[in-house]
Amino acid sequence: MEIAIETKKRVYRFGDKSADGNSTMKNLLGGKGANLAEMSALGIPVPPGFTITTEVCTEYNALGQETVLGMIKEEVEDAVNNIARIMGTEYGNVDNPLLISVRSGARVSMPGMMDTVLNLGLNDEVVHGLVAKTNNERFAWDSYRRFIQMYGGVVLGMKPESKEDIDPFEEIMEHLKEKRQIELDTQFTVQDLKDLVYDFKDAVKKRTGHDFPSDPWEQLWGAVIAVFNSWNGDRAVYYRNMHGYPAEWGTAVNVQAMVYGNMGDNSGTGVCFTRDAGTGENVFNGEYLINAQGEDVVAGVRTPQQITKLGSQRWAELAMVEEADRAQNYPSLEELMPQMYQELFAHQATLEAHYKDMQDMEFTIQDGKMWILQTRNGKRTGAAMVKIAVDLYKEGSIDEAEALLRIEPNKLDELLHPVFDPKAIKRAHIIAQGLPASPGAATGQLVFFADEAKKFRNTILTRIETSPEDLEGMNLAKGILTARGGMTSHAAVVARGMGKCCISGAGALKIDYKNRTLTVEGKEYHEGDWISLNGSTGNIIEGKVATIEPVLSGEFAELMAMADKYAKMEVRTNADSPKDAKVARNFGAKGIGLTRTEHMFFEVDRIKAMREMILADTVKGRRQALGDLLPMQREDFEGIFEAMDGLPVTIRLLDPPLHEFVPHQLATQKELAEDMHISLQAVKNKVAELQEFNPMLGHRGCRLGNTYPEITEMQTRAIIEAALNLKAKGIASKPEIMVPLIGTVKEFLEQERIIRSTADEVFEAYGDRVEYLVGTMIEIPRAALLADQIAEHADFFSFGTNDLTQMAFGYSRDDAGKFLPIYLEKGLLIVDPFEVLDQEGVGQLVQMGTERGRKTKPQLKVGICGEHGGEPSSVEFCHRMGMNYVSCSPFRVPIARVAAAQAAIKANMVH
Ligand code: PEP
Ligand code: MG
Repeated sequence: MEIAIETKKRVYRFGDKSADGNSTMKNLLGGKGANLAEMSALGIPVPPGFTITTEVCTEYNALGQETVLGMIKEEVEDAVNNIARIMGTEYGNVDNPLLISVRSGARVSMPGMMDTVLNLGLNDEVVHGLVAKTNNERFAWDSYRRFIQMYGGVVLGMKPESKEDIDPFEEIMEHLKEKRQIELDTQFTVQDLKDLVYDFKDAVKKRTGHDFPSDPWEQLWGAVIAVFNSWNGDRAVYYRNMHGYPAEWGTAVNVQAMVYGNMGDNSGTGVCFTRDAGTGENVFNGEYLINAQGEDVVAGVRTPQQITKLGSQRWAELAMVEEADRAQNYPSLEELMPQMYQELFAHQATLEAHYKDMQDMEFTIQDGKMWILQTRNGKRTGAAMVKIAVDLYKEGSIDEAEALLRIEPNKLDELLHPVFDPKAIKRAHIIAQGLPASPGAATGQLVFFADEAKKFRNTILTRIETSPEDLEGMNLAKGILTARGGMTSHAAVVARGMGKCCISGAGALKIDYKNRTLTVEGKEYHEGDWISLNGSTGNIIEGKVATIEPVLSGEFAELMAMADKYAKMEVRTNADSPKDAKVARNFGAKGIGLTRTEHMFFEVDRIKAMREMILADTVKGRRQALGDLLPMQREDFEGIFEAMDGLPVTIRLLDPPLHEFVPHQLATQKELAEDMHISLQAVKNKVAELQEFNPMLGHRGCRLGNTYPEITEMQTRAIIEAALNLKAKGIASKPEIMVPLIGTVKEFLEQERIIRSTADEVFEAYGDRVEYLVGTMIEIPRAALLADQIAEHADFFSFGTNDLTQMAFGYSRDDAGKFLPIYLEKGLLIVDPFEVLDQEGVGQLVQMGTERGRKTKPQLKVGICGEHGGEPSSVEFCHRMGMNYVSCSPFRVPIARVAAAQAAIKANMVH
């Protein structure tokens, strides 16, 4: 163990067209580090540097600061000297200083989650060297004050003390601006910047009790430790939990030579995408700022300009800027620096071709030299994800299987959600225009603070600009609106990643946090006022706007067709009404895997008959009430069969405890008593009698049908009659009658007997027949254990993994909300087992049930109809179990289709 620790390589270098690592080493070098290495080896001009591995972060968490710094000291020093050699400088040298940056980099991108420090190496002496070297006093002092500000915030903990407070360094700058009667940072004189440096250092001393570190090496070690610490910071932990990333991954630390975009008008910096991250369109696009540092673009302090001429023209159209004015005052990089643009264009083409995916790149032009700071697979909306994957396939860059694997199934959900009704939009009052940062339609009530995003049911989080601290609120809000920032601002990038509607850079908005108001052209809006955002056009609209179902793009259909080619399992839907059935068919469902008949009984005209049935004391009374329900049920089934047009439809017999159907309020109890001509007391007595200690383990499922066989009879009659009525009209149907919650073979046999004899009676009466199946849910552990015996009689199995999870874990589905969130927070459970199938435990029951069932009946049809049927990792498990189908709610059908295809592709890759 000792020896392994001593000899392991912990620092990987890159730069000068070579590198120790490559892009396959993401787990060790983090995404950013692995990419920098790969790019450097590709000949892309990345500033030289090195990566301290993620393993060192884990070692740091286990062994502490002193031990770990001792382990990496020599390697880091050598690597810094190597950077200096390539750049022709020296770290800490006063006359020819090397300045460096320190950034975090986990194995997956976590935008804005972790900290970065720039300009390390500056101190009171080195700043003079920088002045001399660049011949730019203003730039040198500005870099120095920025460095103290960032280092102070990230490493020394100089943060605002409450949400209403501003950054302590910003406060000092504001004071100086007031004193000097200026508005912009750019109006500071060199003397102002020097004063700021002095005041900043003073503030650090006052708050921390220590001098600001002037030794460049001390600065470096402090920053490295801060990056390691940021992995366990609140923001990062929240982000990790949200995405299910384990703490053991750790973050790498990337140290790189600084290059400067703020060295005058021949310098600049920007962010660009090889394709449109909002729509997926294959157009190179991005934003830049002349004479600025990278964080100016993403932080949204200055609204940046477009890189391409086309993008600039599109922007001008939205901003209603005349062409002449645009070309003069807002030129694209393409027009302003054609040579730099050509070089950038070539690099983006190289990088996309190499990574075979849309790239999100950062670049800096330092005094006429182009540097590429980083590239990564760009975050994108669901719509862009589909278009880019299909386009890359059509362009021959990736094959079909790869295109399918590029899809994050859950993200398809975004495409299926409502958009604004064009008719309602025509009448809408547009109050302002911003940048269409992330498409979609959002209506909600105004809130101004991220931690208040839950104040109303639907909120629009409205900020001057967002920061990583706002992440949780952004996730909770329906839409995000910012007054500042471009298409690559924090708000825009994060919102696109979340698939959340966002408008950024709406300069006309005046936001007052203290009074919680938004003012647009003199009109004031308050917290709680309704507004709507159209993230596709950038329109900000007063009040609520009606929405309609979206039209799916051609690429969506192409992708789905591709998925069906590869998937081995069919996808069915859980639907209780013809309307749901139609939605699901549109999404490609190949049948219904579960119709919960009880939902039909809750409708106003039925609940009365249902209650009468429950309250009846005699079989005769029950039959009478069921007689009233029969025609309604039959009509329901006709509607559903018709909507599914000959596809199989699994209908489950009544399942929930009867207690759920009786009235619990006095007024409704009185009403029922009057209707039934019985006393109120009799109603109350019945309600009390139905009360159970554990209703989920009580009088429900097939226990109802076995104690009140007339219910099963009525339902069977309704199903078979519906099928025969449709047959008479020339419409085919394939009913599959499903018995819920069996635990013993006899329970099933008794229900099967009733079903088959009732069906025979109906056939006889109609003088005609239809094909039908009788199968069972497998949702009680005992049923999974005895699956071989059950399969002798059942035509099919459908795993009810909701109940199976409930009973395998012993967690009541209705009460788990009390402890599950705490279990998840404490890490006692990694995921909610009611959402993601517990393959390790509950999965064994599913496997056993399938194997034992098929031992008896090799062709036994097996499916799943619990909520897990639409969850990608669970769908993959079902594929491995050899199931015939998964069934899920209508809006999850496309997700399940892609997940089923991915499961088949992945299984093929393994073999
Ligand atoms: C199940 O238990 O998984 C199931 C589909 O049935 P329900 O959720 O209606 O109990
Ligand atoms: Mg169930």
